[in-house]
Amino acid sequence: MNAMEEMSKYRHEKVLFVNNEKAGLKAIIAVHNTNLGPAIGGCRLWPYESYDAALFDVLRLSRGMSHKNAVAGLAHGGGKGVIIADPSQKTEAMFEAFAEAVNQLGGEYITAEDVNTDCDDALVMLRKTKHICGLPQNSGDPSPYTARGIWQGIRATAKVVLERDSLEGVTVAVQGLGKVGYDLCRLLHNDGAKLVVGNLRNKAALERAADEFGAKVVATNEILSAECDILAPCALGAIINPTTIPTLRCKAVAGAANNQILDDASALALKGRGIYYAPDFVINGGGVINAAAEVDGVYDEKAVLEKVDNIYNTIEHILSESKRTGEPEGIIATRYAESIIYG
Ligand code: NAD
Repeated sequence: MNAMEEMSKYRHEKVLFVNNEKAGLKAIIAVHNTNLGPAIGGCRLWPYESYDAALFDVLRLSRGMSHKNAVAGLAHGGGKGVIIADPSQKTEAMFEAFAEAVNQLGGEYITAEDVNTDCDDALVMLRKTKHICGLPQNSGDPSPYTARGIWQGIRATAKVVLERDSLEGVTVAVQGLGKVGYDLCRLLHNDGAKLVVGNLRNKAALERAADEFGAKVVATNEILSAECDILAPCALGAIINPTTIPTLRCKAVAGAANNQILDDASALALKGRGIYYAPDFVINGGGVINAAAEVDGVYDEKAVLEKVDNIYNTIEHILSESKRTGEPEGIIATRYAESIIYG
């Protein structure tokens, strides 16, 4: 893979390759775009099978962050860092070296936690860089803000797709009762929605959801095909694929998981079945909205909630456009993001 060619394809501004032998760090940081402001995006640690695979991922993820931050109304571009390592082998030296690499970008990239990196790692990075956000002592856990954004997106989905002004009596199937999924269930239940839930392993969460929200519990392998108005995937990516699409029994998909649709062909197949999709990078922006708030001056929760609640309007706009034109929602959302980034 030719790095410069790949960067040019999706208009990346800068890529920093890091090989710090002393710290045992091999990492890549990609700054996709800074037109709106410094790029924000997490630092992911993953045992990539090749350097090409790591480069491909960091380029794709950083561009995705540009889109996510733009539609969230943030004064930030998109970036991402990947550390090529096995999660069992992570060390403090690695994170300190990663933070020093972040400094080399002079504030053009602001890092955060991501897959296989946690608050402890973030606190290690904080020793060496101030270009970091989403810290536990500042904006705190992003999940409740993500859940609120998903709830707003589901309300907008019900409005456009089901032509309903409230969620009273609307059936939502939630896949995954983790940090986001469980909070989402509470918000939906408070609005009168009927819940169907499925979760891997954690039986206690399922029992709690049945007790607290009257949720109907189904087996893990039945949740995607549960009969419902709206399916809310809050567990894994790529679950909308050629195997699952024929089995779906919902009118719309609107949930937290990143990259829910496997590929472009699956997006078209979903449309072909007449099922609407609330693009993940739009609906799950609540967490980054909250994390970014600590970068942009004094953390102000009221301003954060206003931005998170605006996810309702953005999803309503995208789904209405899709209803009018028949175009897949992901294409409309990407075009919208790029109109904000590039004018
Ligand atoms: P989490 O790890 O707390 O919860 C995920 C839950 O899904 C777990 O309870 C797990 O048991 C369950 N699960 C895994 N595989 C499953 C399967 N096959 N069927 C049913 N349940 C399954 O994660 P989270 O923080 O709640 O995030 C949920 C999703 O939203 C993830 O894809 C994450 O990347 C995405 N997301 C989260 C945030 C955030 O603020 N936490 C922000 C943006 C996107």
